[in-house]
Amino acid sequence: MSASIQVGKIIGIPIRLHISFLFILPVFVLMFAEASEPVGLGDIENLSLHYRYIFSALATILFFFSVLLHEMSHSYVAMRYGAKIHSITLFIFGGLAMMDDIPKEPGKEWRIAIAGPAMSFALGGAFLLSYFSLTTVNLPIYYPAQALLFGLGYLNLVLGTFNLLPAFPMDGGRVLRALLAKRMSFIQATKKAVFVGKIFAIIMAIVGLMPDPFWFYSTGEVRAPFNLFLIFIAFFLYTAATEEERATTTFALLEGIKVKNVMRTEHTCVLDDTPIMALSDKMLAEKTYEYAVVGASGEPKGFVTFGELKALSNEQRYTFKVSDVTGSFDRVSDVISEEAEVGDALKRMLKAKKNVFAVVEAASGNYIGVITRNDLATYIEMLKGRI
Ligand SMILES: [Zn+2]
Repeated sequence: MSASIQVGKIIGIPIRLHISFLFILPVFVLMFAEASEPVGLGDIENLSLHYRYIFSALATILFFFSVLLHEMSHSYVAMRYGAKIHSITLFIFGGLAMMDDIPKEPGKEWRIAIAGPAMSFALGGAFLLSYFSLTTVNLPIYYPAQALLFGLGYLNLVLGTFNLLPAFPMDGGRVLRALLAKRMSFIQATKKAVFVGKIFAIIMAIVGLMPDPFWFYSTGEVRAPFNLFLIFIAFFLYTAATEEERATTTFALLEGIKVKNVMRTEHTCVLDDTPIMALSDKMLAEKTYEYAVVGASGEPKGFVTFGELKALSNEQRYTFKVSDVTGSFDRVSDVISEEAEVGDALKRMLKAKKNVFAVVEAASGNYIGVITRNDLATYIEMLKGRI
């Protein structure tokens, strides 16, 4: 979610808008303004264009507040269980809460997952209730407000129901996995829940590919277009289910394995006052193209690669030292302790888009090896092959 801007903070959680959200906004305003019942104002005659669009813009804002509240309830419950919420982003498909340290206990996981749909149903109920209380007032001025309250109630109920589908990454998929995980391992529960999700996606795609059943029933003719939107959602769900299974299996495999079990210690470092010519000889001899740079007392100082050497002029090659070409380095984000979990190392790499960490001894903070994304990928493949 990089192409997004922060618009505010609620209960300490940054709220962000993704660029795709800006495209969907006018679509929603148009839908509320033009669609007929149950979601839009299209059926109301004698409503000036002006008011039609003011009401629709208001309904759009209320709808996206509903989506935000759905995500906030997931986040609120997760926070109470000790998870860290980095942000909530609104994008074209709705909302997404970015969290860390989500509790693995099934009893907590399903409560976090169910909180969103529960909020959507509560909001749906509240909108419908206010709709019914307004219908007792029979003034034409209230018609558009009534129609929109009904539309918002209806949309929230649809949102709640759709999210309860037992398919990843829908909330229902998570609820299903958590319930299954009470009786089996987390991996087995994920595999079962992913399987159910894929079946749902396939059924959805088949329904989407079928000609309009109502049209066929009333006219006896087969009519295209088929439901492209449904096919699109089905494809999205299937891909997400596959991805969830892959990620869960990987992180479950890595559980309990420490960085020191995967790191490389041979031919990985060079002292920072080494002349460049000596480094290039070392690269040739050890057939290694990337080294961690280490200071005289053993502290990590950065990385140097063959690429940096290639960029040097002939004169620089004879006069420079490794410290002159060492890339920028952060003592916190580029370093990991030997005692850290490999799964956490991988998460950090993926999140910060890093390919390598310098590994330091837990006690002294001195350099002892490197862990790279390639090494991790190979290691994971080997673990998978073992089972
Ligand atoms: Zn949700």
